[in-house]
Amino acid sequence: MSDSSFVPAVVGIDLGTTNSLVACWQDGRPRLIPNALGQTLTPSVVSVDDDGSYLIGAAAKDRLQSHPEQTVASFKRGMGTATMFRLGQRSFRAEELSALVLKSLRADVRAAFGQDVNRAVITVPAYFSDAQRTATRNAGLIAGFTEVSLLNEPTAAALAYGLNEHDDSQFLVFDFGGGTFDVSILELFAGVMEVRATAGDNQLGGDDVDACLERWVMESARLPESLRRDERFLTKLSARCESAKRALSAGGTTTIAFQHDGHTVDLSLSVDQLERIIQPVLERLRHPVETAIRDARIGVKDLSAVVLAGGSSRLMPVRQLVTRLFGQFPSASLNPDEVVALGAAVQAGLKVNAVELSERVMTDVCPYTLGIATSQQLSADRMSHGFMAAILPRNTVIPASRVQSFAPVRPDQTRIDVRVYQGEARMVRDNIALGSFHVDLPRGRADEAPHVNVRFTYDVDGLLEVEATPMLGQDAAGKPQRLVIQNSEERLSPEQVRERLQALAALKMHPRERMEVRALLARAERLFTQLSLDERDRLGHAITRFELELESQDQTRIDAAAEQLRRVIRDCEADSPLGA
Ligand code: AMP
Repeated sequence: MSDSSFVPAVVGIDLGTTNSLVACWQDGRPRLIPNALGQTLTPSVVSVDDDGSYLIGAAAKDRLQSHPEQTVASFKRGMGTATMFRLGQRSFRAEELSALVLKSLRADVRAAFGQDVNRAVITVPAYFSDAQRTATRNAGLIAGFTEVSLLNEPTAAALAYGLNEHDDSQFLVFDFGGGTFDVSILELFAGVMEVRATAGDNQLGGDDVDACLERWVMESARLPESLRRDERFLTKLSARCESAKRALSAGGTTTIAFQHDGHTVDLSLSVDQLERIIQPVLERLRHPVETAIRDARIGVKDLSAVVLAGGSSRLMPVRQLVTRLFGQFPSASLNPDEVVALGAAVQAGLKVNAVELSERVMTDVCPYTLGIATSQQLSADRMSHGFMAAILPRNTVIPASRVQSFAPVRPDQTRIDVRVYQGEARMVRDNIALGSFHVDLPRGRADEAPHVNVRFTYDVDGLLEVEATPMLGQDAAGKPQRLVIQNSEERLSPEQVRERLQALAALKMHPRERMEVRALLARAERLFTQLSLDERDRLGHAITRFELELESQDQTRIDAAAEQLRRVIRDCEADSPLGA
């Protein structure tokens, strides 16, 4: 039986490109926590209302179409960059918008348990870089969590899946979400779940599928290029393409039909056509799969299951590709929208040493190679610079700490520059620069060659610390220097995080208890913009009546008007050739 005084110490959060979910470990299993609308999926969309209050979730998502200038979505793609997103009169960084989503989930947790929970496990794509991870953690802190740990999304999916799995199995998690793609291969042996290899593409997701479809619609319906500058048209087009794509996950054929400023789109689309249209995306999915299989040193036949995660894995052509690549049907035992959040809740349970999980241990890996730039002596008088010296090779089990020694290349050298990179390329110019610093070389006797020991420490959150110590022979000969990330406009300092926490606390949030009403109005307004002029009357009337009754503050009258509005919405959606 459930304990009504239960309050989780830690919550698990899937902070998705498209949707976010929050869950906890309760009564020996992961449990999803519903939002103010009673739903477990909260769209990762933020909108500013006409009265200046901020809306998160379904109501904001509906306003993407009716109020595109006051609404932003898919901001996870900007995490760890200095990109600003415009929202009405103000601009926000991706981590601030993410913080608003997290804050709203935190309020849902408070509503469910009557208390704030201050510790969170937040999932990130395995392929997220150091800057993107730092940004995610900052988003958690800005949202008011005091302790934030990170967990790779495919690892989370595996944790949820592995709960019901038998020992001695190897499985692959194929996690294709709204903006990112990750593949992980995991092994479960004697209660230990080990990530064997991870690969991915952090700029590939359902948004790219939508982009392919949008291009196809523009060409097939012979729409003028000038429409690409029409924000309202673009929002409408992308919503239509997204719902057509979703409709096809059950197979068959669907239509994309709408009008805009005298232009008519009326196209039918089959799964086979969709497969051809999104071929470039399907091609890009192959590469990380091959890399992961190679790195894990296993054969496709050794996989006991292929687990799907992320909304885009529902695409029929993606499922077909998976079946072809692995020679088996993907496992459908868990809902791909929920599996990452459920896994985050398992991790939350592991953090508080839940008894039901006492037999479980989880180990993860670092998804990319980390190292520093070095020079190489090509011949007696030729030196070449900018080679990547790997200190932590990709797929090293984490947490990990490795030290490597670097000697000066010239005898008269007084310092060594430590330039830190991430990536697999041979030359550092083709990898991602993480930051740099220098260490002065100690002066010693002729027989004591000065050098520098560079230590890379990669923690369980996937965050890197670099320390360099000047050495003479076996002994330290000076204070260790630490990496200070230099591309600072991309990262917030701890003071900036504090400032933004305060700034966000001052923003007016739409009251949670009125969210249901607000979401209903947003849905009605979105539908209104889609209807033709003669269809609008009835809906417009029902909206006005509902708004009037809201002012009455009489709950019985409000409920009746809401029911009436819902009925009209249902009728309009059923009548409209456009669908919902
Ligand atoms: P996630 O980031 O895991 O929430 O995944 C969201 C992505 O999944 C978005 O690009 C959605 O358009 C896509 N998606 C959700 N449901 C479906 C579906 N039934 N068929 C195809 N794509 C879907």
